[in-house]
Amino acid sequence: MRRIALICTLLASGLASAAPAHVHGIAHLDVSLEGNVLNISMESPLDSLLGFERAPRGNAEIARVRAMASVLREADRVFLTTPAAGCSLSSVHLSSSALSPQLLGETASKPAAAEEPAGHADLDADFSFKCANPAALNSIVVQLFESFPAMKSIDLQLVTPKLQKAAKLSSGARTISWSAK
Ligand SMILES: [Zn+2]
Repeated sequence: MRRIALICTLLASGLASAAPAHVHGIAHLDVSLEGNVLNISMESPLDSLLGFERAPRGNAEIARVRAMASVLREADRVFLTTPAAGCSLSSVHLSSSALSPQLLGETASKPAAAEEPAGHADLDADFSFKCANPAALNSIVVQLFESFPAMKSIDLQLVTPKLQKAAKLSSGARTISWSAK
């Protein structure tokens, strides 16, 4: 099993030029601030969020998918922005090649997420916030590790009008901060 997973990981990294490799336990966050809009897009192996990477079988697994979606839909509790920036959540979109949009709580039909290597699937999530005072935004605390203990680290890329920054977050280092000057 381990060898198969490794081969899939290698295939994923070889095939995907833009998309990050599918590695269990590692999620990717792209954070961008443009004007007063803060966008956060997340890509994570479903394994790190659910413990499986296929359509749910039975009520217990369906309940796990719904619980995952409800945690992520309350994204203002997952991503804690600098209070003085006055950011409020405006939209959340969740998609996965393995899960139906309805199960993820999507109302509008969106194009299906990209196919992953056989046997693997990601969750793609887009979160959008509007900030009353974006100049004051200088930190985000990412609260994903308690809800999803299988998530071990997050590779984060931040782009603001002033700077670009990369960070690696973990349960012991959940905050990205920067100088907003
Ligand atoms: Zn996988």
